[in-house]
Amino acid sequence: MAHDHHHHHDHDHDHEHEVDEEAYAEAEAEAIRRHALAQIRQYPDVALRLQANEVADFDDDLRRLVERMERLMQDAQGIGLAATQVGVLRRVFVFVPDEDGPRAVVNPRFTDRSRESSTDEEGCLSLQGVRVPVERSLRVKLEGKDVDGTDVSYELEGMAARAAQHEVDHLDGVLIIDRTDADNRKRALGILRPQPVLR
Ligand SMILES: [Zn+2]
Repeated sequence: MAHDHHHHHDHDHDHEHEVDEEAYAEAEAEAIRRHALAQIRQYPDVALRLQANEVADFDDDLRRLVERMERLMQDAQGIGLAATQVGVLRRVFVFVPDEDGPRAVVNPRFTDRSRESSTDEEGCLSLQGVRVPVERSLRVKLEGKDVDGTDVSYELEGMAARAAQHEVDHLDGVLIIDRTDADNRKRALGILRPQPVLR
């Protein structure tokens, strides 16, 4: 899942080199973001439509996958990333449920969802340039395992609940364009359609 970053320039910079440093840092972050996005499967990659499999082995391979996904999510400035988005068909996602940083959830399942829902715009690291309204449960109880195979349980609401529902959808091959209304889907598919290359 992606979100917008708003850069506030509240302070006046008296020194030119400060402006240069800030511009340089932003350009560098943008280069890192693009490099990460290039490693994330983009629509209409088939991996995004496949069902991921339950994880049985909590081994070094899984640990490496989670580390790679956490790094990619942060570099891409996203707030969630599912294994299918890196072409791995295992039920694992990473997200940032609170200030304590990224967390991995393996074999996630919702044991409770509030009937109360909210509709808000969502983006996706695999659907660049698209933001569509999606209705989600306001609160969810999420259970699963961490990377070591220990049971974990999260009571989530708001943005974190939305992110978890978005990522679990990925593990079932479901995308935000499937969850929005017909008009927004049509508009999104227009954005995603490969543009003709003029030579
Ligand atoms: Zn996504």
